[in-house]
Amino acid sequence: MSGPALVVVEPGTGPGRGAELTAAARAGGHEQVVALSLSADPPAAAAADLDLVAAEPPTALDATAVAAFVDAAASAVGASSAFLPATETGTAAGAALAARRDGAFCEDVIALAVRDGALVATSGREEPLLADLALPADRFAVIAVRPGAFPPATGATAERQLAPPAAPTAAEAEDAGEVRLLESRPAAADAVAVAGVLFGIGRGVEGRDGIERVAALAAANGAAVCATRPHIATGWLGRDRLVGRSGATAAPRLYVAFGVSGASQHLVGLERCEALAAVNNDPEAAIFARADLGIVADLDDVLPVLERLLADPAS
Ligand SMILES: Cc1cc2nc3c(=O)[nH]c(=O)nc-3n(C[C@H](O)[C@H](O)[C@H](O)COP(=O)(O)OP(=O)(O)OC[C@H]3O[C@@H](n4cnc5c(N)ncnc54)[C@H](O)[C@@H]3O)c2cc1C
Repeated sequence: MSGPALVVVEPGTGPGRGAELTAAARAGGHEQVVALSLSADPPAAAAADLDLVAAEPPTALDATAVAAFVDAAASAVGASSAFLPATETGTAAGAALAARRDGAFCEDVIALAVRDGALVATSGREEPLLADLALPADRFAVIAVRPGAFPPATGATAERQLAPPAAPTAAEAEDAGEVRLLESRPAAADAVAVAGVLFGIGRGVEGRDGIERVAALAAANGAAVCATRPHIATGWLGRDRLVGRSGATAAPRLYVAFGVSGASQHLVGLERCEALAAVNNDPEAAIFARADLGIVADLDDVLPVLERLLADPAS
């Protein structure tokens, strides 16, 4: 590859994410990798253990601003490609960056290879259908890497300072495409990513009361709480609690799934979970195929028992 790869470390996506992106860049034929942090907080980028380009990142993680920031950094280091996490922020900013650079973009990448000098990216976007896309060698390549898809790599640490890039002009913002609104993830995403014990709240847990009951059980066990998409969609839990394809990746020692069906879009965020226990009233639920311990029961029966046991472990 002609220039280094720029890996973009997004705050709040869990430790080691920069190192995962580095592994992806190396799989894509890049020996030289430079990290760019989207956080003014150096530890977020230092965790990447890479050459670090320091500059003033955009305060709001807006796709247009992030794309302009990464674009300027890529020019400064002569990068030939950029690797971002396939979060909503990373994916939208990646698309906007590719549009700015008239480059090639591939999202939800789970594997990379170099074939006949061309970068070939495998996208899991339409899973179970996987698509291999050969990216033209003469185009700037933008790769949005699925969190957890590549085992973290390590590299040497050094720092370089970049002049802050100029804010995009209105015309540039227009050119960057239609994507505008991005989320900024508060610290809970980190809590989910690093949790040793994680309780997953699925649609089988009913209403706010049900969520609060499971959250109380989690707190009493020193566990963190995450959720499937339906509860995020209702707004009952923050987006930073979402685990899966569109959210965080977690690697707990134990995941306890309450009323979670086991959709692949959720389980993809738990591939590195060590042990999984599930409570579901449907014996055919897909979660049981992945579970180490399965309890076929109604949560209305199970939750009171768990609450009683916690209140009086001798009972
Ligand atoms: C592009 C795309 C991206 C997506 N990204 C994500 C993602 O990142 N994360 C994610 O989670 N989802 C994601 N989804 C949604 C995903 O496909 C599923 O719809 C979602 O995970 C289902 O959530 P659930 O298991 O809580 O709900 P459901 O599928 O409705 O399952 C609820 C389960 O609870 C059980 N149940 C019901 N009542 C009780 C009870 N009283 N006691 C015990 N069990 C009970 C039922 O048997 C059922 O198995 C995505 C979907 C798409 C298309």
